Amino acid sequence: MSPLPHPLTGQEFDSPVPPGCGWPDDPADPDTPVATTPGEVEALAGSATLPLLDAAVSVCRACPRLVDWREGVARDKRRAFADQPYWGRPVAGWGAAEPKVLIVGLAPAAHGGNRTGRIFTGDRSGDWLFAALHRTGLAAQAGSVHAGDGQRLLGARMVAAVRCAPPDNKPSVTERDTCAAWLHRELELVAPSARAVVCLGSYGWAAALRGFRRLGYAVPRPQPKFGHGVEVELRAPDDGGVSLLGCFHPSQQNTFTGKLTEAMLDSVLARARDLAG
Ligand code: SF4
Repeated sequence: MSPLPHPLTGQEFDSPVPPGCGWPDDPADPDTPVATTPGEVEALAGSATLPLLDAAVSVCRACPRLVDWREGVARDKRRAFADQPYWGRPVAGWGAAEPKVLIVGLAPAAHGGNRTGRIFTGDRSGDWLFAALHRTGLAAQAGSVHAGDGQRLLGARMVAAVRCAPPDNKPSVTERDTCAAWLHRELELVAPSARAVVCLGSYGWAAALRGFRRLGYAVPRPQPKFGHGVEVELRAPDDGGVSLLGCFHPSQQNTFTGKLTEAMLDSVLARARDLAG
């Protein structure tokens, strides 16, 4: 298939997008090391700085099923986006390097993050989330449509528990556990500044609890159950701490049915902002 123009910049790209060829905010370059096994993910994540972590995540190929799926979606495209290049790579964490608020989701959407290369960007869930982040002062703009659109998170960072778009939004347990090495290193790097962690849905909640437990935080037993508005304080080994906040995922299933309203989403994000000072 011929290269297609990026909707904002007009530069032409293949789908999936090769690393370091000019895609807005691409963290990688052609020399970024590529993890192809769970062991290589562990090794690369282990001592990475945040920029190196973002770069290595964005070229990872450790889960064969997800690599096939994300790249197939990028080539086939949805009809509405048939004239656009698709990122088709893992989606790295995005936002402040020393965030006070961390937002943990499940995985990129096939035609959202997997198309735009930025988490929660270019899909309906992201429309809801970014509008709420803007209302609560955590994002510079109310919308997030394409990487390179000027959107910025203010004192906040977003990450996905699994960095590749999975079929039916369902990563396998093995895929989840393989990708957890990236997440755990990212939690380790941002934990010194983070005061509040907003977990979107039970998947993000469980992933964050596993991650902080692995970092030595005191996680209550039995493990706290996910719920919208649930708040749990986790003590760090150095006596610092972080507050975990549960929030229903802004999926269309939840927003169409009224299970999650704008007021409910704003309320959790405002609480996170207030905890972060
Ligand atoms: S899901 Fe995570 S570990 Fe698996 S290929 Fe994607 S980025 Fe790599």
